[in-house]
Amino acid sequence: MGEASAVNAIQLFRTIVDNPIMRRILRGFSKHCDKDGGNRLEIALELIVGVRKKACFKCQISKKILAPIIRVAAKGFGVPDSKMKEKFADPAWRRGLVNVIRGIGWFGVRHPFVPGAPFQIVWNITKACNLKCIHCYESAGGKKDPDELSTEDVLKGIDRLADAGCVILAFSGGEPTIHPDILKFIKHAHQKGIYAAVATNGLAFASRETVKEYKRAGLEFAQISLDAAHAEVHDKFRGVPGAFEKTVKGIKNCVDEGLFVEVAMTITKANYKEMPATVELADKLGARWFMLYNFVPVGRGVEIIDLDLTPDEREQVLTLCWEKMKTMRIDLLSTAPQFAKVAQDIEERNMKLHKESSSRDVVPTHFYNPQLSGQLKRLADFIGGCGAGRFYMSIEPNGDLYPCVFFPHEKQVKVGNLLTDDFEPIWRYNELLWECRDKDKLAENCRSCKYKYTCGGCRARAYNYFHNVCAPDPGCTLNKEYWLKLKNMKNRHVN
Ligand code: SF4
Ligand code: SF4
Repeated sequence: MGEASAVNAIQLFRTIVDNPIMRRILRGFSKHCDKDGGNRLEIALELIVGVRKKACFKCQISKKILAPIIRVAAKGFGVPDSKMKEKFADPAWRRGLVNVIRGIGWFGVRHPFVPGAPFQIVWNITKACNLKCIHCYESAGGKKDPDELSTEDVLKGIDRLADAGCVILAFSGGEPTIHPDILKFIKHAHQKGIYAAVATNGLAFASRETVKEYKRAGLEFAQISLDAAHAEVHDKFRGVPGAFEKTVKGIKNCVDEGLFVEVAMTITKANYKEMPATVELADKLGARWFMLYNFVPVGRGVEIIDLDLTPDEREQVLTLCWEKMKTMRIDLLSTAPQFAKVAQDIEERNMKLHKESSSRDVVPTHFYNPQLSGQLKRLADFIGGCGAGRFYMSIEPNGDLYPCVFFPHEKQVKVGNLLTDDFEPIWRYNELLWECRDKDKLAENCRSCKYKYTCGGCRARAYNYFHNVCAPDPGCTLNKEYWLKLKNMKNRHVN
């Protein structure tokens, strides 16, 4: 299928679904069906892909409406029918598609896109930790907080997230593996059809038996932090000698047990030169993704704010990352949304020089590198950059909700509590979440930047430096004047 006809199909898809009548119908059909025990759209999809044979009359109608829309969308993305059925046999994919459809129903086809519920939630399940990392956003330590939710309340919270339509739930901390009931939580999320992940320092996974237990519980994805390719640099960051060795073993064990493994490295002035060697190590260990974490001055990170990279240093490391990806098996991503700007600049330059893209047909985004070519790269505007409050949200050990884990625990940016508030109205109407999502609300220079939909700046860095969620991200070369201003201020604002 040619790109022009693919784009036409996408436009046709937009015309079909992005109008008030169809959006109303989609909202109506995205409700819970008591007879069939699930979201009506999810049940319709089960009927379409054949994993369910019978359903009530209303779910059958929902299938009749959904089937042609899915066909047009699949055509737009150049996916054959058989491939689509194969993908959507997986409950996480079905949940993802339902989330997109509900997003269209509630919010229309926006730039960037807002789904019907967060695609990913990171739940800091405990503040207890077995390491003492100098850059910890959670200021986690040895003990748990006194107000952490009970096991029963966490399970109730998972039910609420499942009902709202969340797709991925990543347990983080502190260190999630030292929570006594973590396996119970993973199992429960998995049984609810949620894709279960952990973000861990990997020490517990140095035991292969432990990895097997997690896998049996339903764990599918492990993000393991590794801040350097050399033990002395990693251990200095992590505050405990011997951590490196166990973490590397943990990565290997997870790979060997067939988990999807992402190695995460937080970059600061103290370790960014280690990036190429750390990518190579992660590649050698068999990890699928390497995620370059942007440093955000929050939690204990405030104490090492002077280790934040300058805009030029960040651009250099992201450029190196993009260039490196062309030669590696492992996929490289970054939580620095400027990765999209850097990659687009490089590719535009290459196009001018060689008249064609010299790179893999990849559109870098904050959490995902979809392989799209030519005009389909326009889809990057929908996927967008910073996902805070848009694709993504975070939960604290006491159930408090924030747009992203890198926001400070201040009442100005707390958007509610999972146990005491109704989740869905927060997602639909909360003002702060809309400030994070709406890129036309950004302050200069992000506001008039041509990358605002694919990057948009890190809203957590903006908030932690300027106490304003719409402020410019001072870590970008296009915002250098703000970085210099901060440098010259004696008491720059950080929390
Ligand atoms: S100015 Fe803002 S939106 Fe533009 S690239 Fe920089 S951080 Fe991203
Ligand atoms: S605020 Fe946005 S860019 Fe920054 S870490 Fe959170 S989701 Fe990523």
